[in-house]
Amino acid sequence: MASIELKNLVKKYGDGFPAVNDVSLDIADGEFVILVGPSGCGKSTLLRMIVGLEDITSGDLMIDGKRVNDLAPRDRNLSMVFQNYALYPHLTVFENIAFPLRLAKGQHNEDEIRSKVNQASSMLELNEHLERKPANLSGGQRQRVAMGRAIVREADAFLFDEPLSNLDAKLRGQMRTEISRMQRRLGTTTVYVTHDQIEAMTLGDRVAVLKKGVLQQVASPRELYEQP
Ligand code: ADP
Ligand code: ADP
Repeated sequence: MASIELKNLVKKYGDGFPAVNDVSLDIADGEFVILVGPSGCGKSTLLRMIVGLEDITSGDLMIDGKRVNDLAPRDRNLSMVFQNYALYPHLTVFENIAFPLRLAKGQHNEDEIRSKVNQASSMLELNEHLERKPANLSGGQRQRVAMGRAIVREADAFLFDEPLSNLDAKLRGQMRTEISRMQRRLGTTTVYVTHDQIEAMTLGDRVAVLKKGVLQQVASPRELYEQP
């Protein structure tokens, strides 16, 4: 687990208007922050800067008090779940979830991998599907595999980019419950982008509102959505 500090972060693509414009935010160790705002306001860009997939134009990104601007993604120990949760089609559910552990060469033996994958998959109720391929899973099951892959290693933080947007309303409801449960159990620092007001209200400790790259407001869901 880790704190994440954004200090005056700016991202410019080319010489256009900044996609992320002077964003400062302190995210406490174990906190669940929801990021909302209209399309194109810079939410994905901000997540990608945190995880290391976009260069930072200016400002500082601190993880547990250490400046990580120049660290490669694999050295930041963060887990990201993308909107389209690309799974490896030729790998089983087990191997999809095990993938990040196998990437960390030599760090985990086969017994450890099996035990960690089993732990993640039982939390997400995937035990019965471990030998199946993604093509034979429902949308909700695929989404849970993507979650499993994110939580299988002990990352310092999770970054979610609209992870439920491709699911129907019923599955979204189930996954919301699972994400809440997972967060309570693991207590891992999380930044979660969503368009869904119910997710924003029920999952987060705080909601950050971004507009045209600028942070407009940071408040508890109650303060933001239940104003008189
Ligand atoms: P899009 O144009 O991409 O559909 P919207 O303008 O509908 O984006 O905003 C997406 C979500 O972000 C909304 O559901 C809303 O909950 C949230 N949001 C946007 N701006 C604000 C704001 N100023 N205060 C609170 N929530 C906001
Ligand atoms: P959101 O996730 O809130 O929809 P994005 O972070 O995807 O917003 O985009 C923020 C702004 O940056 C948009 O104006 C978008 O067009 C621009 N942008 C995003 N990615 C790139 C890119 N690779 N090159 C140029 N402009 C980009």
